[in-house]
Amino acid sequence: MNAAAPRTPRVLLIDDEVDFAKMLGTMLRTRGYNTTIVHSGWEAREEIKNNPPEVALVDLKLPDTDGIQLLGLIKEVSPDTEVVILTGYADLESALKALHLGAFGYLRKPCSPDRLFLSIENALRHRRQKSSESELLGKVLQATNLPVAAFHPRTGTIIASTPAFVQLIQKNEPAAYEKMNLKMLFNGNDTKFAEYQETLNKLHRAEVEIELDNGSPPKHHYKLLSLLSPDPDTALALLFDISSYHQELHRNRKTIDYLKAIWENIATGVMIVDSRFTIQDVNPCFARWYNLRVEDLVGRKCHEILHHLSHPCHLYGESCPIIKSMASGTVSRVQYYHIVSAGSATQKVAGTGNGTTGTADASGDNPRYMETVVAPLYDENGTQIAFVVLITDLTEIKRAHDDLEKKSAQLKELNEALLQQQEQLEKQAEELKKSNLELLRLSAAKDEFVATVSHELRTPLTVIAESISLIADCDDDTAKGKRQKLIQAAQRNCRRLTELIEDLLDLAKLEAGRMHTTPVEFNILKLSQEVIESLHPVFKEKGLMMKTEFPSQPLMVNADERHIRRILLNLLSNAIKFTPAGEIIVRVEQQGNEVVVAVIDTGIGIPEEEQKNIFNRFYQVQQKTGVRAPGTGLGLAITRELVTLNNGRIWFTSTPGKGSAFYFTIPLKPITKSSGD
Ligand code: ADP
Repeated sequence: MNAAAPRTPRVLLIDDEVDFAKMLGTMLRTRGYNTTIVHSGWEAREEIKNNPPEVALVDLKLPDTDGIQLLGLIKEVSPDTEVVILTGYADLESALKALHLGAFGYLRKPCSPDRLFLSIENALRHRRQKSSESELLGKVLQATNLPVAAFHPRTGTIIASTPAFVQLIQKNEPAAYEKMNLKMLFNGNDTKFAEYQETLNKLHRAEVEIELDNGSPPKHHYKLLSLLSPDPDTALALLFDISSYHQELHRNRKTIDYLKAIWENIATGVMIVDSRFTIQDVNPCFARWYNLRVEDLVGRKCHEILHHLSHPCHLYGESCPIIKSMASGTVSRVQYYHIVSAGSATQKVAGTGNGTTGTADASGDNPRYMETVVAPLYDENGTQIAFVVLITDLTEIKRAHDDLEKKSAQLKELNEALLQQQEQLEKQAEELKKSNLELLRLSAAKDEFVATVSHELRTPLTVIAESISLIADCDDDTAKGKRQKLIQAAQRNCRRLTELIEDLLDLAKLEAGRMHTTPVEFNILKLSQEVIESLHPVFKEKGLMMKTEFPSQPLMVNADERHIRRILLNLLSNAIKFTPAGEIIVRVEQQGNEVVVAVIDTGIGIPEEEQKNIFNRFYQVQQKTGVRAPGTGLGLAITRELVTLNNGRIWFTSTPGKGSAFYFTIPLKPITKSSGD
């Protein structure tokens, strides 16, 4: 604000009494005031707008307007103009009102020139003083960052303001600085502004919350605080940004609303009890469970409501979760079966686990599975002041949980059964695989067997057929000796064929389990001796030494004599066949419950890699000479079957080039077997 310029003060005289005005105007001009005279409110308005005076002398009684109204207009258009009211006696009351509305002073008409000049001078002094105060205020305001302004309390016109204030007001509503008005903060709500002004006038202080659009959503909230200065023409306005407080408040309100909705509608019973077990509050769900109204429960003791006990339940030895929470200072939780008697709100408690204990009632009761959670509440000093007790009906959840557990156990069982079945199936598959392989092996063996048998049969048959046809072709001159040889060859091969066929039949019988034993008691030494003697001509022919190593006493065994004879015959025949020179020993000795018979030779032996095969059917070790040894390759296969059939075992040792030893056992103890072939 600028101080008044050092120029002739301008005085506007507004009076409809022309002569009085003229006289007064002359006096004023004489005194040096730049004086303009108008006679109506309308003229005055124009003059003030176009050329605002320092002092306006206003007659209250004007033809076209009320002096009070004119005063308001002057203060609005030119707040710096000091107004001195000219009034008659009758208008004294109005003059006082005008003073209240901001007029500087009043003069009773007619007045002395001295009084008039004094009044004008005082007004001018006051104006100057105000102007310098405004200037000072302006300077102070410029120096602060706060949104502060000085304004005319009656018009709202801004006299001076800080840049922060201007910025805020301009963001909210763009306006030239000169046109700025506190009213603009009220977003066009004139009634609200009027109320604010009234409060300011009455209490010299007013505050209101306003919303300002400062460009960034959401709108910012401010508190507008105004203070009336001792000069009734000036008031100070301060804007406080209370947006964050407002947001916090809004959030809190929302939270409270949510909590209220939860409290009202949650299916969990909530009870607040103090440390003396007095119910402070309960939610509607809790009250419903007990068939009582909230107000009937508040103030009662919880043990009285929950357990129908006159004293705290822990005194009766009950395990109370509130007591637990009280003692531990933390949350306690119990689950238990709660028995609600049919047709009554009376409740008994059947405790489980660490829950509250009690007794189940007779039939007709409806057991519910409940959970009680107790959380202690503390004041700012850390003292326990109350407990929040949450009671939830978990019956359905528990039921579902139990069902699930049962089903899960069933599934587990089923799974185990399936696993077992799978294992069995896998085993069966494995066995099938083995059987299949065995079948394949057997099939291959059968093919090989058929091929071998065919070969074995064809060879002697060819010899026989050849011999017969040669004999047939023989003429009478053919030497008898030659014919004899051919007949012998045919006979030999016939024997070989017979032996082969017998061996085959015996092996088939043995393998099919159709060969039976006829066990008898006999002396094995005697039998062995007989077999050796039957082969004597062959030993002799080959020049082999024959030795026996027998105990001195007869050795009685229980077995099928025919079978043992055949076993001995086979082993001895092989020993003779595969021993070009040297000796053969037959050793018989008792070992424990059995007799071990050994046929030992000093023959060609069996190569190590062949040893595992010699009990196979038709297996014959390839001779170094390439010449096929006589025999069918069935002897050892039959021998092994016969030993097994007579409850014995057979094995051998052999060293190529040095000889072989075949061993078999016969039980000493009589064996019980059904007889018959
Ligand atoms: P074979 O009718 O050929 O004698 P075996 O089944 O009795 O048939 O014997 C099978 C094969 O075992 C014989 O061909 C032979 O190669 C071998 N073998 C059996 N006994 C002896 C032995 N004492 N010394 C050497 N090799 C033997």
